Amino acid sequence: MKKIVLFLCFIITSIIYAQEKIDLSYYLPQNVSYNADIPTPESVIGFQVGEWHVSHDKLVYYMKALAKASDRISIEERGKTYEGRPLLLLTITSVKNHINLEAIRTEHLKLSDAANTAVNVSNMPVVVYQGFSIHGNEPSGANAGLLAAYYLAAAEGKEIDEMLDKTIILFDPSFNPDGLNRFASWVNIHKNQNITSDNNDREYNEVWPGGRTNHYWFDMNRDWLVTQLPESQARIKTFHKWKPNILTDHHEMGTNSSFFFQPGIPSRTHPLTPKLNQKLTAKIGEYHAKAFDKIGSLYFTEERYDDFYYGKGSTFPDINGGIGILFEQASSRGHAQDSENGLLTFPFTIRNQFTAVLSTLEAGINMREELLKYQYGFYQNAKQEVYKDKNKAIVFGDKNDKGKTYQFAKMLERQHIKFHKLSSSVTAGGTKFTTNDSYIIPADQPNYRMIKAMFETRTSFQDSLFYDVSAWTLPMAFDLNYGYTNSLSSAGEVVNSLDFPEGKVSGNSDYAYVFEWDEYYTPKALYTILKNNLRAKVATKPFIIGNKEYDYGTILIPVANQVKTSEEINSLLKEIAIETGVNFDGATTGITKGIDLGSTYFKSLEQPKIAVLVGDGITTSDAGEIWHLLDTRYQIPITKLDTKNLGRADLSKYTTIIIANTSGSSLNEATDDLKTFVKNGGVLIGYRNALRWLESKNFIKLDFKKSKITGKDVSFADRADFRGAQVIGGAIFEAEIDLTHPIGYGYNKNKIALFRNTTLFINPDSTNYKKPLQYTKKALLSGYISKENLTAIKGTIPFKTASMGRGEVIVFTDNTNFRAFWYGTNKLLMNAIFFGKMM
Ligand SMILES: [Zn+2]
Repeated sequence: MKKIVLFLCFIITSIIYAQEKIDLSYYLPQNVSYNADIPTPESVIGFQVGEWHVSHDKLVYYMKALAKASDRISIEERGKTYEGRPLLLLTITSVKNHINLEAIRTEHLKLSDAANTAVNVSNMPVVVYQGFSIHGNEPSGANAGLLAAYYLAAAEGKEIDEMLDKTIILFDPSFNPDGLNRFASWVNIHKNQNITSDNNDREYNEVWPGGRTNHYWFDMNRDWLVTQLPESQARIKTFHKWKPNILTDHHEMGTNSSFFFQPGIPSRTHPLTPKLNQKLTAKIGEYHAKAFDKIGSLYFTEERYDDFYYGKGSTFPDINGGIGILFEQASSRGHAQDSENGLLTFPFTIRNQFTAVLSTLEAGINMREELLKYQYGFYQNAKQEVYKDKNKAIVFGDKNDKGKTYQFAKMLERQHIKFHKLSSSVTAGGTKFTTNDSYIIPADQPNYRMIKAMFETRTSFQDSLFYDVSAWTLPMAFDLNYGYTNSLSSAGEVVNSLDFPEGKVSGNSDYAYVFEWDEYYTPKALYTILKNNLRAKVATKPFIIGNKEYDYGTILIPVANQVKTSEEINSLLKEIAIETGVNFDGATTGITKGIDLGSTYFKSLEQPKIAVLVGDGITTSDAGEIWHLLDTRYQIPITKLDTKNLGRADLSKYTTIIIANTSGSSLNEATDDLKTFVKNGGVLIGYRNALRWLESKNFIKLDFKKSKITGKDVSFADRADFRGAQVIGGAIFEAEIDLTHPIGYGYNKNKIALFRNTTLFINPDSTNYKKPLQYTKKALLSGYISKENLTAIKGTIPFKTASMGRGEVIVFTDNTNFRAFWYGTNKLLMNAIFFGKMM
């Protein structure tokens, strides 16, 4: 009897094991042979693809092993992530093409420069960029990449030889190594031997911040146009080096879904994208459809997703003469989950992604000439548009802020947009631009359409729903002066490499130094000064020394009675000037026109000690943007204070606590602690929905305004779209700013562009004081807003302060730190941090 039980146990175990055990034949086409000299993934990483989630280290290990074994593959490290992981690129093609790679590339690039009128594409390979898992917790792409790379290295036969001969594959095995690794750790540490498909299992419920984002919690798939993050910067180099014809971006979506491939919703395609782009996308889609029919997988297309924001990987190529393709696979978010479509296993999701890799390559060779000719036509047509454009150039710059101008120009440089120095000053858009601090971008260059996409403002749209933001006008995001001109006569030499504009110290002084607050990196300069235990003060009124005017917010560093000697102070300031671009002026007397340097209108400043609330209930991206800004741009250390520890933490250590977007539910228990913190002199800064919580807990009085939305005659079928149309997914609005208020220090114009992705409107209070920030009557600068909300926003305020005890509560309805590229409003947060107590 005992023997029989044991025997039965053995059978049952082996059945379970047999069911779980998969081999390469589950994934790979069986009608080809595979070169035995090429290592399989399992032989290198130690498990079959799909059995565990691959860590980034093992992925690197395998890709290097493949490159070593196969002469079809070359590998390069293009940079590193914030956590030091290599950003790999595999170039995969035939041996013959590898030998001629540089010549092939040079010839290919002729298609994207309209100056070349006769290019023969009959033998030209098509360039396909395949990238995986830009969202780290959407891992089927990167895990499928192991198989795809193996297949491309090992498959033998006429078909693959022909494909490799006609295709250059730029293979990016992990778009987001830090996120991929974070997620792999999470699911692997929770994996059961007997896989549990119950969605309640901890494996399927990541803890904050999850694996979607990179190190600083950025959504990497919003950074392709603005390229603020190292991962994007490495990738965009490859993009422009090759200008791929197809670029694929493998994602995952909700567990109950199926598989999506582009085109997306036709009415939500950006108007600058040619119609033919979407037709070709649909034609490529036929190859995916055929392949998915064959393996019996469900899919959908022309729904839900769109091709509007050029910052996404699947849309960016569309403004660069290529075709971007988004894939979305229903996520097992772990090893297997129950779903509306039955048991969804990790291997199944991987197989679908792998299938899409191959169907893309099949489309690539079959449509090769069509895609190459489309690319050629894209640039020829753009050239015709240049001729019709009455604007021949765009001028930009800011004489008060060379740091920000530099960052903007660097962004253009990364996108291969050509610009010149000014040979003489020029007036454009009502602003006079001078030679030392401004640049001019000629319209007549290959990337004309991308320039348009960066600079245009748009306020009318075919659709009223957007998957992401509806506007990103970049000079507005940088708060840079810019204007169009119809003449190139002031264009000087082309800028080929740009160096950071160092500042300097003018005049050694034993008395005092001053610097204005305009430059982007002034917060870094001030923090370094305070960190060195030097006393500094801020001017709350303007003054004049000699012939130079110093504006509100000028910083004063007295020399006498400091912990450092005057020589030490001078050399420290010199170092800071070089690093930050800030200019310091030595002052030899305290007498000025206006407030004297000893005046009580100079207010003492203290070194901020900042806690940023993170963890459950806080929006990861918003908190990450603040962390990134302070940590990487201004070198200001912060404490990431988890909401679950808030009640236990000694808050008196901090001068400033920042609450990013949150419903506030995770803060309730710490309400009294936060109030005590403020009453004792702390500054509490809240963003977006945190305002509702702060108001409900009586931190600050806010009069929220409701927009009048009736929804009369809206049918059941149209309800979701009607509600969606009331969302502000991301648009740009104009506010008036009081330059004499500490929130306005460092700004020079009385209007500012703000990024808003909320329908939170606040009525101004009834005092007659000028509001520090207030939306203008015609607030919409660029992007989509419903009529009802446009009426509602008029005259409301995006910013308010209230004193409580010895401290201050400061609130913003808008995100001043959006996605690391809204340089123009970063100073609002920095003013709240350094000058909050004076507000
Ligand atoms: Zn995704």
